[in-house]
Amino acid sequence: MGQSLEWRPIMIRRGFCWLASVCAVAAFVAVPAARGQSEDSGARAAEKPKGDAASKKNGDESKSDKKEHLKPFPSGPREDEFKAVLGDKYKVRRTDHFCVLYDTEEDVVKEFISRLEKTYGAVHRFASQLDIKIRYPKEKLPVVFCHNFEEYKRRCKQIVGREVPQEAAGLYWREPFDFSIFYDMSEAQFIKEHAERARQLKEEAKNSKDPNDRKEKTRQAQFILNKIDAFQQDQNRSVVQHEVAHQLLFNFRVHSPGKANPQWFVEGLATQFEPPPGKMGAGFNVINQRRLRVVREKYKKELPDLREFVGDPGKGQPMLTDEGYALSWAIVNYLIKQKGKDLPKYVETLKHRKVGADASAEQDIADFEECFGKIDEKFKKKWQAFIKELPYRAQG
Ligand SMILES: [Zn+2]
Repeated sequence: MGQSLEWRPIMIRRGFCWLASVCAVAAFVAVPAARGQSEDSGARAAEKPKGDAASKKNGDESKSDKKEHLKPFPSGPREDEFKAVLGDKYKVRRTDHFCVLYDTEEDVVKEFISRLEKTYGAVHRFASQLDIKIRYPKEKLPVVFCHNFEEYKRRCKQIVGREVPQEAAGLYWREPFDFSIFYDMSEAQFIKEHAERARQLKEEAKNSKDPNDRKEKTRQAQFILNKIDAFQQDQNRSVVQHEVAHQLLFNFRVHSPGKANPQWFVEGLATQFEPPPGKMGAGFNVINQRRLRVVREKYKKELPDLREFVGDPGKGQPMLTDEGYALSWAIVNYLIKQKGKDLPKYVETLKHRKVGADASAEQDIADFEECFGKIDEKFKKKWQAFIKELPYRAQG
């Protein structure tokens, strides 16, 4: 794979997103809310971002965007590089915009592939509706899909030279690697443990002589199985959509590879694409109920210091907490809906940063305020009111 196999220290700091390791356990508990979000989101789905400049475009531009959107990316040398590294056990599926190298069962990969293209559609719609300039990749984007966690761990180590955290269901490795990698969640250890518990309960129910006990154990077993099913669906969906959104946003040059992209902006954008498509929309039109719940619970009494957060969202740590992801989502959602017309300017401002150079907290705050206005009390109040009004479906 040529130079992509080289280990580069810069990858440690901002190399990938730890999303799944942070929220895997929380999401297991949060499944019911996540499942209900697509209908709920319909209420705002028809709403257009306030600063939506799409209507200002002339017909020719819209047509050419549409043409570019529909045009599949050609196959390219990266596919061969990955094939050479992964070996014969990996098969290849090509979609319009991705080449997927996988060693899973065929029926598992089918759903996975459709998820990738749906995410492509959502991210593309986001960038074009907000008039953010898109640079189209020259070839299909590589994605690796492994049959279980062990294989996924081994392949990350082989390709990138890094250990992955347990239960990180997927990762996007940024430049110079620029690929995402996932594994089939049904093979995860904790899923297997829960499945085993459900199997035991069913067995106990079968052997029990007490009809009430039988009924209760069967109910418990089914409850666990339902949870597992919903959790897997939610994880597969939200993690894949989140990581692939990163991959697309970097490849479209909404984020600039190698430059100091503010973490709240990178994660805040990716989290817009986590919810499954609803009846009336997808991506940023759908309210991310799980993130909204965290923001409402965490900041019920005390408002976050938005200015401080924009300058240093991780509070000195390389990874965000679950609250950090949620707050990033809430800030970016506000900017998209209320200050959408300023977003292209912000994206362009970040592009002017130097490759490899760090940005201070002061710089991050200054760039934010130059594009979106001062983060003062007025700004905070408006943001708070906006978040309060978002339709929220409490966990049932
Ligand atoms: Zn991320």
